[in-house]
Amino acid sequence: MIYQRSSQLFAEAEKVIPGGVNSPVRAFKGVGGTPIFAKSAKGAYVYDEDDNRLIDYINSWGPMILGHAFQPVVDAIIEKAQKGTSFGMPTELETKIAELAVSMVPNIDKIRFVNSGTEACMSAIRLARGFTQRDKIIKFAGCYHGHSDSFLIQAGSGASTFGTPNSPGVTQGTAKDTLLANYNDLDSVKALFEANQNEIAAIIIEPVAGNMGCVPPNEGFLQALRQICDAHTTLLIFDEVMTGFRMAKGGVQELYNVKADIVCFGKVIGGGLPVGAFAARNEIMNYLSPIGPVYQAGTLSGNPLAMAAGYAMLQALNNDTTIFKRLEEKTAYLHQGIEKVLTANKILFTINRVGSMISVHFDANPVYDFQTAKNGDNDTFKKFFHGLLQEGVYIAPSAYETWFITDALTYEDLDFTINAVAKVSKSL
Ligand SMILES: *Cc1c(COP(=O)(O)O)cnc(C)c1O
Repeated sequence: MIYQRSSQLFAEAEKVIPGGVNSPVRAFKGVGGTPIFAKSAKGAYVYDEDDNRLIDYINSWGPMILGHAFQPVVDAIIEKAQKGTSFGMPTELETKIAELAVSMVPNIDKIRFVNSGTEACMSAIRLARGFTQRDKIIKFAGCYHGHSDSFLIQAGSGASTFGTPNSPGVTQGTAKDTLLANYNDLDSVKALFEANQNEIAAIIIEPVAGNMGCVPPNEGFLQALRQICDAHTTLLIFDEVMTGFRMAKGGVQELYNVKADIVCFGKVIGGGLPVGAFAARNEIMNYLSPIGPVYQAGTLSGNPLAMAAGYAMLQALNNDTTIFKRLEEKTAYLHQGIEKVLTANKILFTINRVGSMISVHFDANPVYDFQTAKNGDNDTFKKFFHGLLQEGVYIAPSAYETWFITDALTYEDLDFTINAVAKVSKSL
């Protein structure tokens, strides 16, 4: 396949947009080459500016769980747009989508809508700090919670108690309140509680991690975090921006039957428009402005187009009794197919999968945290990525991303993908 026009468009974009992209994950820094420019998309396919048809495994990084240009979502947006695109006043639709979300997700009474996953996590942390009157939070290395200051922290060393910022512009003052633990490592969490008695407001976690490839929690890990939080009156925040309305109607809370205190949403909840949300039981949510002391606001929050898209998406998921089973079956089929051809070609790999999130790591050892995720062979991944692109299969341009399976994929598409992997793996 030829990607000529994309290259030209990228050269123009680079002159006026830093790195040519409005979000760094879209650049091909991890794999080399220049990004593909999208022209349109429908169902399981993206069509690029060179008129190539690509089978899409990014799906806008998750939202397009029912396929691109999903008709009920498109219709809802068009209908709303005719009636005004923003009011800065409350609308009935906001209550409707809130009621639906609260009915689908366990352990929440109220939900507030924002404009991105970043905003949702940032606000959840402020709420947790206000509610507990404590400053520190624990996050896990390799988990992503958006780009707000508190979360752009990584370990200086495994043993360090205080995080060091991993972006200039994040102050030491902010970084000192973010404590780092290792995913699936309970002892690392216990040590932080030991060293910071009565200071930890919240643990925030991707309950199934998706930002270091797909990394599932070990059996009992989330339950153990729940117990630790209860013992220390610390809040447990599930960042379900990726997993919410994807793993199950009620997300990971439902899938593994663990209760979070605050849940963050994004991606699927907006049906492809910019939406995030955070939710909790009354006691916590009533701490928010205007009824509580914790301030949080947004000029375009609850925007009618965004709410219409999100409502149509949640309704479709809520009314479809087999959607999550279908997604799981399709992903399992892909998993088995890829496993078979990589094994036949003697490639060293590990595949992680939970529901419709799956990632291929080029390392034979188990991947259960950030360190083990980093052990994958990046050169092999680069060849794998570019090989698949040549075959018309588009996966995320980074070894640290999961593939997002959409219900629009047919078994023919999956077979096509498995064949492409077979071809590519001969030259890895
Ligand atoms: C994508 C993501 C975010 C950030 O959401 P944005 O809408 O990009 O701000 C936060 N947490 C997780 C787990 C995510 O996957």
